[in-house]
Amino acid sequence: MELFDLVVIGGGIHGCGVAADAAGRGLKVALFEKADLGAGTSSASTKLIHGGLRYLESYEFSLVRQCLMEQRLLLQNAGYLVQPLPFVIPVDNNTRPLWMINLGLFFYDRLTARSMPHSTILSAQDLEKLELQKKPKAAFRYYDCQTDDNRLVIADALLATSLGAKIYTHHEVTSVVSTEESWIVKTQGKFGPYFVKAKAIANMTGPWLKNVTQDCQLITSQTEVKLVQGAHLIVPKLYSGPDALAYQHDDGRLVFFVPYLEKFTLVGTTEFVIDKMPQKPTIDPCELTYLKDLVSKVFGKNIKDNDIIGHYAGVRALIDSNKSASKATRDYKVEKMYCPHHKHPIVHLIGGKITTWRLSAEDIVSSLKKEFPLMTAPWTTKKILPGARVNTSSHMIFEELCRDFPFINKELLKRWSQTYGLRTYNLIGLRSSLKEFGAKIADNLYEAEIDFLMSTEWAQNLDDILFRRTKLGLTLSPPEVKLIYDWFGQPITHQIS
Ligand SMILES: Cc1cc2nc3c(=O)[nH]c(=O)nc-3n(C[C@H](O)[C@H](O)[C@H](O)COP(=O)(O)OP(=O)(O)OC[C@H]3O[C@@H](n4cnc5c(N)ncnc54)[C@H](O)[C@@H]3O)c2cc1C
Repeated sequence: MELFDLVVIGGGIHGCGVAADAAGRGLKVALFEKADLGAGTSSASTKLIHGGLRYLESYEFSLVRQCLMEQRLLLQNAGYLVQPLPFVIPVDNNTRPLWMINLGLFFYDRLTARSMPHSTILSAQDLEKLELQKKPKAAFRYYDCQTDDNRLVIADALLATSLGAKIYTHHEVTSVVSTEESWIVKTQGKFGPYFVKAKAIANMTGPWLKNVTQDCQLITSQTEVKLVQGAHLIVPKLYSGPDALAYQHDDGRLVFFVPYLEKFTLVGTTEFVIDKMPQKPTIDPCELTYLKDLVSKVFGKNIKDNDIIGHYAGVRALIDSNKSASKATRDYKVEKMYCPHHKHPIVHLIGGKITTWRLSAEDIVSSLKKEFPLMTAPWTTKKILPGARVNTSSHMIFEELCRDFPFINKELLKRWSQTYGLRTYNLIGLRSSLKEFGAKIADNLYEAEIDFLMSTEWAQNLDDILFRRTKLGLTLSPPEVKLIYDWFGQPITHQIS
């Protein structure tokens, strides 16, 4: 049985972040994910790298500041995956008042040095351009960032393996026992049970946090957790401008309308508390109706069920502070505990955000300093993620690719630059014509890309490829998607379409 310093349970943004951070500090790391990397909440977010303007209302200045600092680091270190996104906040009689939003934005712009423009109030002409059903009294524009949550997870996992971590997908951790020497971790994979030993464990199972501790009879976190589900709709583009909209609904909640994949608008999120974590969260009919009604209220457009391109639901495990779902803090807590008999450590993460994954991963690994005194210092603030170059956007990479590969059409190079960044050079390799990419499986999808995803990114089936590693499952037409599944003889299991 192989002995690892650290076994990470869960391959979402936090698990992969911890694996990368720990491996980079000299620990021997294994990560086990029961499904695909990022298949949990980390592919079901609103896909924003944001400071969380509304957390200022609950005076969470340090959380907002941390988030904005992480946003700046991600723009610098993962530029092809994180793009600035303008947001508009309409102000009306039923919304938070003008002075309050103005004050919040004043702080938001100044809490940390940012490379993005400061917020502004929209002119009467700009208000007209908003294409809203009801013209608001006023509106502000401010800046946050958009990302591809699942690509960030993959970039993190690639970083972890480049530093020696071992990543096992489709391996569910089913039991953890402690012996004199170490923890013994049992996982269940395709080929049966697999055992490893670990000096320390990081429970990075997000909303499954309590399930895994119960199922494996592990020492559970003492923190009260609130499970809050949120759902999103993907609908054909609702309006033409480049802004996202932060819209305050009548119940006081902020719902975002975000331009998505050029052709779509992402609408979400809902927020409701659930008692038990399901195997796979799905949108509730009430959430669907809530979001459809909101689209009709805000844009005067009736969305029928067959207009919906996709929908998804995810669950957050928030620190339960007896506040409502929307007011509960989005901050995270690292809880380190010891097995009562042999004093081996286990670290749980409660809460957190995609935006702050680097920081929480750093805190989790640093919490093990006592057990691993030779561990090196935190290092990730300057680490450029795989596929990125410092301060380089996907557009800059796209221009380089167009120059170097004139035989590949621009649409494909654009998608690759946004998906793989500079790793597109690895995907293309020494090929000098499109014919060398193998069979054309669909518009702008060649066999070579599927091989690349399966051989370098842990993709195992078409759901992984079409809906998580790429978003082709959304952009290709449903008959094209069906043809691909038929071609590979795989059933369509993805819920999104
Ligand atoms: C609706 C919604 C919108 C959000 N929007 C944003 C946003 O715009 N920006 C932002 O910064 N944050 C956002 N968040 C928060 C963010 O998405 C989460 O904090 C983050 O994705 C949690 O990541 P995680 O790695 O902790 O959990 P997960 O991504 O859920 O990963 C946990 C993993 O553990 C695995 N697992 C569970 N049990 C086992 C086991 N026994 N063995 C092995 N593996 C196991 C699961 O399969 C899963 O992959 C949003 C959250 C929600 C719910």
